[in-house]
Amino acid sequence: MSPTDAYAALVADATELSVLQSCGAVLGWDQQTYMPKGGGPFRGEQLSLLAKLCHAKATDLKIGERLAAVEGSDLVKDADSVEAANAREWRHGYDRATKLPSRLVEELARVTTAAQEAWVEAKGKSDFVSFRPHLEKILLLKREEASCLVPPGGVGTSKDQLYDALLDEYEPGCTTAELRPLFASLTAELVPFIKAIGESSKKPDESVLRREFPTDRQKWFAESTAAAFGFDFTAGRLDTTSHPFCSAFGPGDCRLTTRYNPRFFNECFFGVLHEAGHGLYEQGLPADKFGTPCGAYCSLGVHESQSRFWENLIGRGRPFWDHAFPRLQQAFPGVLPNVTADQWHFAVNAVKPSLIRVEADEATYNLHVAIRFELELALIGGELAVADLPAAWNDKYESALGIRPTTDAEGCLQDIHWSFGGFGYFPTYTLGNLHAAHYFAHMPDPTDAIRRGEFRDVLGWLRTNVHAHGRRYRSGELTRRATGQPLTAEAFSKSLKGKLGALYGV
Ligand code: ZN
Repeated sequence: MSPTDAYAALVADATELSVLQSCGAVLGWDQQTYMPKGGGPFRGEQLSLLAKLCHAKATDLKIGERLAAVEGSDLVKDADSVEAANAREWRHGYDRATKLPSRLVEELARVTTAAQEAWVEAKGKSDFVSFRPHLEKILLLKREEASCLVPPGGVGTSKDQLYDALLDEYEPGCTTAELRPLFASLTAELVPFIKAIGESSKKPDESVLRREFPTDRQKWFAESTAAAFGFDFTAGRLDTTSHPFCSAFGPGDCRLTTRYNPRFFNECFFGVLHEAGHGLYEQGLPADKFGTPCGAYCSLGVHESQSRFWENLIGRGRPFWDHAFPRLQQAFPGVLPNVTADQWHFAVNAVKPSLIRVEADEATYNLHVAIRFELELALIGGELAVADLPAAWNDKYESALGIRPTTDAEGCLQDIHWSFGGFGYFPTYTLGNLHAAHYFAHMPDPTDAIRRGEFRDVLGWLRTNVHAHGRRYRSGELTRRATGQPLTAEAFSKSLKGKLGALYGV
């Protein structure tokens, strides 16, 4: 087979696989939004058949043969070409899918399915002991998975290499060696800063966020803000779920979900900005490359950077509320009299150490992630036994945030990730925050446009420099090309300290 024919066959196969996967996404979205409860068992059958078909397609030996024909040919000579990038990513995915023995894949699926059910129950009862044997099994299997994936020629099983192999599923190319100093310096910087904020006599009046906000008005206000950012509602929609998410089916169809709390403004509004940020990224991916890596999102960290960009850098910025606050007052007549845009801005930026990651503010959020990174590194490296996890977790919260969980539900049982085997996932949240601030700091100054409620140029910059490339470059390279600078935590620290320092007078 000629390299050109092999490449064309790879494109056709990858596109077919993506269409098949998108069918699963439609079913998954429906399950979370409109499916009647009675549909559960049959939906499970539909999804597991699709998963089986997808797995068979992704591990088809023909992919290996075709890749061999393409690799080393003139077609991929230029490492930056679309063809070379697609071949690189196909190889990455194919190796990950085929290096694992099917016994291990099946066992992981079985163990994590049971573990997720056990986790729901254990969390409900705040009983880590009942979840412990599940987590122990998962950890053994994930270690085995990691050792199968460690590249040949390496030492084999050093702790960092194992964690690198797991990280690689979510943030290809990112390493433990890069993350370690990143989290250490963030922690060293944030802990005293948050402490100073706690000791400041300046405090926001958060009660303004907890007035009566009718849900139909919340929906309208959030949707019109997402539309003003550039989210195309002729190619997407917003529905209600208990756990908000964004699911992109393919070109022209991207679904956002949210939940409403009539007595708390932040939940729906900032949730929608977050999911709309994910959605704007999906809507900006090159549709003509759908199904191939160059038409897919770069990494979880870059995906999260897009949600954080609109939620925090724009939506929690003072310039945004110049334009939005009078509109907010109009949208909720009589709810916010005698409140100023400054007071409102301070309230939506309130910082308070808390035990639950998903409710954390912008300043404390990365500490929650740093704690998880250290703990899972120790678990994978065998330095921390699962039995000792709750105490280790609580100790870390006490030293980083000055508060100690009193139950496992508000401690190490709060997140779903470990129950599905998602070790290496958490760092992508912090990487998202850092990439977002890095983009914001390096794009042409958008302040005046944001004050006028105009977002076309901001979105245009992201479209050109981030969205349009899909997975053509790995995240580090994508960001370096977009901004001319390698990613560091500097822009994040500067913007966070600038904003919160001024508000809290620290
Ligand atoms: Zn997100």
